[in-house]
Amino acid sequence: MTVPLLVARGLTRRYSMKRGMFSNPTTVTAVDGLDLFLEQGRTLGLVGESGCGKSTTGRMVLGMETPDAGSIAFAGKPMPRPGSAEWRSLRARMQMVFQDPLGALDRRLTIGQQVAEPLVIHGIGTRADRPDRVAALLTQAGLRPDQGARYPHELSGGQRQRAVLARALASGPELLVCDEPISALDVSIQAQVMNLLTETQARLGLTMLFISHDLRAVRQVSHRVAVMYLGKIVEEGPPDAVLHDPAHPYAQALVSAIPGQKNVRRIRLQGDPPNPADRPRGCAFHPRCPLAGPVCRQLVPELKPRPGDGRMVACHVAQGEISPSFQRAA
Ligand code: SF4
Repeated sequence: MTVPLLVARGLTRRYSMKRGMFSNPTTVTAVDGLDLFLEQGRTLGLVGESGCGKSTTGRMVLGMETPDAGSIAFAGKPMPRPGSAEWRSLRARMQMVFQDPLGALDRRLTIGQQVAEPLVIHGIGTRADRPDRVAALLTQAGLRPDQGARYPHELSGGQRQRAVLARALASGPELLVCDEPISALDVSIQAQVMNLLTETQARLGLTMLFISHDLRAVRQVSHRVAVMYLGKIVEEGPPDAVLHDPAHPYAQALVSAIPGQKNVRRIRLQGDPPNPADRPRGCAFHPRCPLAGPVCRQLVPELKPRPGDGRMVACHVAQGEISPSFQRAA
């Protein structure tokens, strides 16, 4: 039986936005009633186009953003109020690896000072043993201990991301949220950082939320994959099922666009993702869906296990509730 480290129910995040100085504010729903289940010691890959709410989800999981609705439980207990003393102590157990390592590091401090920071903040070890701890963390992340004396601008992009990982591991976290951790790196070093993350997750038994638009990277690290569209999860299951034989038409289009695949017909979606401030009625994907019919324009499909293979899918057709031909005829 799988043990959840983090369970989120009905997570919702809305923003109020103004298009111009004299316009009325509109409400944008970035994340819309999302359920998340992070199994202990496993990686959930969260994929989708940019703007679908992946990063907002990651920030809510860590308490860096407050949901407008929904709840989060960590290790079986409700997440404390962000900013509270209880939350600050819990933060040692949850860390983030950001997309832009240069932006995530302080240019005025050496790498060693920054890796030592969480040790000081969370009172880990003594002043005397901190240099050894920092050296071990740098080594664990694939850096040499002497590179701790360097400043961020003196390292390459890949080395900076390794330094970010070393700092994230300093407090001994159980949960690591990686938000597009390789997208700012040269292609030549992306594979090295991916290998490091995969190996680190397995060796330390970390629970990981891996957020990316790169499906090949997600396939490499994930034990389960969730596909997001316009603030909702539309398909979730094992990578072999979701990334080799996707059931949801949006997931099928995403997978068909993975470069270098043989015998896969590319599905080109029509149009851009809809404006989150003006969500389409019914299934939010219907304006771009090749299978959409009248029912899709009326009824929001529920994310639920698909009969037969148990993966979670939010689609009337994939669930077998309605056939595409029936819809067209309706
Ligand atoms: Fe397409 Fe309809 Fe399925 Fe939505 S519910 S993905 S519109 S077939």
